[in-house]
Amino acid sequence: MVFLEWLSQGLVPLSFWGLVAVTLILTHITIVSVTIYLHRYSSHRSLSLHPALKHFFRCWLWLTTGMITKEWTAIHRKHHAKCETAEDPHSPVVMGIGEIFWRGAEAYRDATADRESIDRYGSGCPDDWLERNVYANNFVGIGLMAVIDIALFGVAGLTVWAVQMLWIPVFAAGVINGIGHWWGYRNFECPDAARNIVPWGILIGGEELHNNHHTYPNSAKLSQKPFEFDLGWGWIRLFETFGLAKVVSKGPIVERVAGKNTLDQDAAWALVHDRFRVMARYAEEVIAPTIEEEYHKADDATRKALRRVKAVLAREETLLDEASKQRLVGVLENNAKVRQIYELRMGLQSIWAKRGGNFDEVVKGLADWCKEAEESGLQAAREFAETLKSYATPAKAATA
Ligand SMILES: [Zn+2]
Ligand SMILES: [Zn+2]
Repeated sequence: MVFLEWLSQGLVPLSFWGLVAVTLILTHITIVSVTIYLHRYSSHRSLSLHPALKHFFRCWLWLTTGMITKEWTAIHRKHHAKCETAEDPHSPVVMGIGEIFWRGAEAYRDATADRESIDRYGSGCPDDWLERNVYANNFVGIGLMAVIDIALFGVAGLTVWAVQMLWIPVFAAGVINGIGHWWGYRNFECPDAARNIVPWGILIGGEELHNNHHTYPNSAKLSQKPFEFDLGWGWIRLFETFGLAKVVSKGPIVERVAGKNTLDQDAAWALVHDRFRVMARYAEEVIAPTIEEEYHKADDATRKALRRVKAVLAREETLLDEASKQRLVGVLENNAKVRQIYELRMGLQSIWAKRGGNFDEVVKGLADWCKEAEESGLQAAREFAETLKSYATPAKAATA
């Protein structure tokens, strides 16, 4: 009888809502382990972690996901290196959104079979006794979790366990790898299709901000705009206060100095390093107001075309579909001002695309571009060119 009672209720009898709360806490710990340990630490090295915390994350991931650090890290690094190509282990652009959203976990499993890639991209991952003899047995970990859940919560523990097991396949493999390259907004025109799903990264610990992440993959902080929130970053700051983590990088280290008006090596360095943000500013400060101005002057048919082409004018060219390209050509043919701001955009972008590492060349390219912008007769472009001169490295900004 006592055994049956224990089996039905477990060691910690909880109400329905108690079980829901516990499940949400357990799955949140798994998400924190994935985003901070596997993703930001192991794959991108954007922070360092205390050995005790690393061991906790490894053990927790073994119990709740059965995923192996080296495999996850290698597949993820390959995703960044080969993004949206046939070699990308999980691209909805190449494989179809349905395939990744519903069968993302299978795509991950298929990728683990490619041992050559796992070895090539998985350097620097744990290879100690624990990894080889304990964590390599992934079914033992998730089996042990089932036993723990049943012991604690009785038969309801099976449901808790099932939700835990589904959390990563659904949210990480399906939602982030699928939706994060398909639907949402883009702050930056990074060369792949990554998008921010929502500005508040709570449910998946900040991973929702996937466009920010693909733009600045080595940043430990995934939020970039004041209205965005990255819960994973909150955890990192908390770990830092206890000496359990140390941030290595949190994005571009670039400053703008009020009053600085020379295009020098510092400006070139800063502009190359902050180029995605510079282009986002160009979209906001030059493209948007010019379209707005033209919109008010236009007839109904032209207005419709202008509205549809506004985002296309700033979009990374490799991501444009045939219909958008045709719309763009149509507007460029018929509107000289729009053509001017588009050509200026392409010219600015080509400066770092062609001469990224040679700062003397970048300075020369920028000077030519600013001259062109100043002579364009476009107020917004002239003002934008002026702001480029204010860029500086952080050290210069501190002494200016
Ligand atoms: Zn991605
Ligand atoms: Zn990444």
